[in-house]
Order: sequence, then structure tokens, then C-alpha cells
Amino acid sequence: AGELPHLTDADPTAKAMNYIEDATASKSALYRTGSICANCQFYHGPDVGYGTCQLFPGKAVNAKGWCSSYTTQKA
Ligand code: SF4
Repeated sequence: AGELPHLTDADPTAKAMNYIEDATASKSALYRTGSICANCQFYHGPDVGYGTCQLFPGKAVNAKGWCSSYTTQKA
């Protein structure tokens, strides 16, 4: 996953899902504190750095990113 290009906020697919690469710095009204890729069920990767997301094949998402498809990990 480390070799994949990073998904950016400017990516059209990312925009469609309101992806933000650094959710911790987000002012988005949609974003809820603590909901980040690292604890999303679609994320696979390290808690810090970049990993993969099933919804963005071929790209690496930021562990501290977020998008509107965020889904909490199963209990
Ligand atoms: Fe991050 Fe989850 Fe959105 Fe994928 S679906 S970009 S892992 S918040």
C-alpha cells in the first residue's frame, strides 16, 4: 500500500465522497471528531500513515482522513 499514490482532496472521486486527507484539521460540519480512516471498517493499514480503502482502489488514504462513507468498525 505504501507505493500507491495518495488520494487527495482534489481527486474527483474523493470529492464525490467528501474525502478529506487530514480530518483532524477539518472544519467540515459533516465530520465528527474521532471518525477517521484508521478506525473505519473499509480501511486496511497502519494507525499512522497511509493504508488502503476498499472504496478507493489504487489509491492510499490517510489514516487520519475521513469521507462521508465512513463506517465504524464492527463492535
Ligand atoms: Fe476512509 Fe472509511 Fe472513507 Fe475509506 S470509507 S476513505 S477508510 S473514512
